[in-house]
Amino acid sequence: MSNMTFTMIKPDATAKGHTGNILQHILDSGFKIKAMKWVHLTAQQAGLFYEVHKERPFYGELVSFMSSGPIVAAILEKDNAVSDFRAVIGATNPAQAAEGTIRKLYAASIGENAIHGSDSNENAKIESDFFFSAFERF
Ligand code: GDP
Repeated sequence: MSNMTFTMIKPDATAKGHTGNILQHILDSGFKIKAMKWVHLTAQQAGLFYEVHKERPFYGELVSFMSSGPIVAAILEKDNAVSDFRAVIGATNPAQAAEGTIRKLYAASIGENAIHGSDSNENAKIESDFFFSAFERF
């Protein structure tokens, strides 16, 4: 999976009407969309997705935010997808994100930071499998 990563356009960005611009930014950065869906996670599903962060102090806030509205989940393809996509989205805290990154352009805070990008090839596979069956990938 070194040429694949997983992303979610988070509820803050979909609510503010940034979905189209963010998808265009992703395509303009050279990624191909291999799978995509528009979903509203339950708190239980969001809790499962972010289970690795269970012990972090912001876990409750993160779960309630990620289940507060619809998201766009997608699998993206490009050489060096994971690291290149992390560069395209920018630092977790938008205040520290580089100019021109998705988080710098569209995110409001470290919690409500517009977009997710996998942090390793292993997690890209786990996260893609969480959302998509083989029949939903093209
Ligand atoms: P990422 O890989 O850049 O998404 O960052 P992390 O893996 O460290 O954190 C996962 C997600 O948890 C982030 O994207 C934020 O949505 C959220 N998060 C991280 N730190 C904080 C925090 O201090 N407060 C809150 N409310 N949410 C946070």
